[in-house]
Amino acid sequence: VSSSQVLPEPEFCLVRYGELALKGGNRVDFERRLAGNIRAALRSISPARVERLRGRMVVTPEGRVTACAQRLRDVFGISSISPAWKSASRTEDLIERSRAVLARTLEEFEPARCVRVCVRAKRSDKRFPLTSAELERTVASQVLPGRERVRVDLTDPELTLGIDVRAEGCFVYASRLSGPGGLPVGTLGRGVCLISGGIDSPVAAWMAMKRGLELVFLTFHSYPWVGEPARKKVVDLVKILARFQPRTRLIVAPFAHVNIAVREAVPDAYRTVMYRRMMQRIAARLAEREQARALVTGESLGQVASQTVENLTAIGSASATLVVRPLIGFDKEETIRVARRIGTFDLSAVQEPDCCTVFLPARPILRADPRRCAELEQRIDVAELVDRSISEAECLDLDEGAPYPP
Ligand code: ATP
Ligand code: MG
Repeated sequence: VSSSQVLPEPEFCLVRYGELALKGGNRVDFERRLAGNIRAALRSISPARVERLRGRMVVTPEGRVTACAQRLRDVFGISSISPAWKSASRTEDLIERSRAVLARTLEEFEPARCVRVCVRAKRSDKRFPLTSAELERTVASQVLPGRERVRVDLTDPELTLGIDVRAEGCFVYASRLSGPGGLPVGTLGRGVCLISGGIDSPVAAWMAMKRGLELVFLTFHSYPWVGEPARKKVVDLVKILARFQPRTRLIVAPFAHVNIAVREAVPDAYRTVMYRRMMQRIAARLAEREQARALVTGESLGQVASQTVENLTAIGSASATLVVRPLIGFDKEETIRVARRIGTFDLSAVQEPDCCTVFLPARPILRADPRRCAELEQRIDVAELVDRSISEAECLDLDEGAPYPP
């Protein structure tokens, strides 16, 4: 009989996180947020208990552990995840468990193929009688020899049997899924992300979340020139991004009245920069309301003619709020690679009109002068336009997005 018939699904996920960046008081906040974000991520799969051990977390879902482990691959702050089984803290039990875990895991490889295997043990409970190296050798010598399909390979193993001996319990595992790294969402506070239906802003959002910003999303919608499909596209993009943080709000702010006012008052060449300055102002006001301390955009340098140093200065100076531009040094190819990886590319690639393309000037200015911008804005009622956009904005609280792709 194969031992895997008696070994059920793993019961735990061992979660590792990068410790090096953690010092003093940061650590407590990091760990508290990570634990909360893990629980939130698993909410729709299985309620889970999260325990903090030294430098690790043990996640105990009520069921569906394999699905939970996959889901944790999207939780920032996590460096890797191992679905694991528990064992009593005795050498014989660890050997028995290891044998069963190995047999079960070998079944995931093509039948009859030889698999390169090694054993790695770590003893952090010093009361355990064997050292890490001794435990490794003992288990390996008891479990590996005589198995037709096993070839010991310490340098390039395909299957690493891991053994973790801790005061809180001993774990055995055979796989290690990579996490996304970064910092738990929320450790750096909140930001407002200006999101369009394009390729860039969803990637910028993901990168900002990766560095610990919890995002409130804001999109400008020029109804009726820009229709429902364009709005729905942004809602769907935000639903994909919602996988990466515990809760997600999308604000849809009307912008057509700004388009009209700017078009009527401002020379063609300045239109695009003026639209973007108005967006920045509205975003800064909403940031205050949402207790956010930064704006996040998909701007890059030189990617489109409008993204010159001068134009970014003219746009950024419309408010005092910090503007974070995670894509600043990215080539389009680099952005597309991330967009594919996080699952936003296909949706972003669908062509829809955007409120900045409404009344797009034939020759947008390349080097806007901030003083000239301020002069031109004397011709429109900036405060009134901003107020109207905010008071007519629609607020959507979105649940987490689609399940993890297979
Ligand atoms: P994207 O691919 O994100 O649309 P882009 O390369 O098309 O970016 P622009 O159209 O100049 O560049 O927009 C620059 C940034 O301004 C966007 O990344 C986004 O952060 C913000 N932005 C543009 N249009 C909108 C909009 N309709 N709603 C909210 N933010 C917007
Ligand atoms: Mg765009």
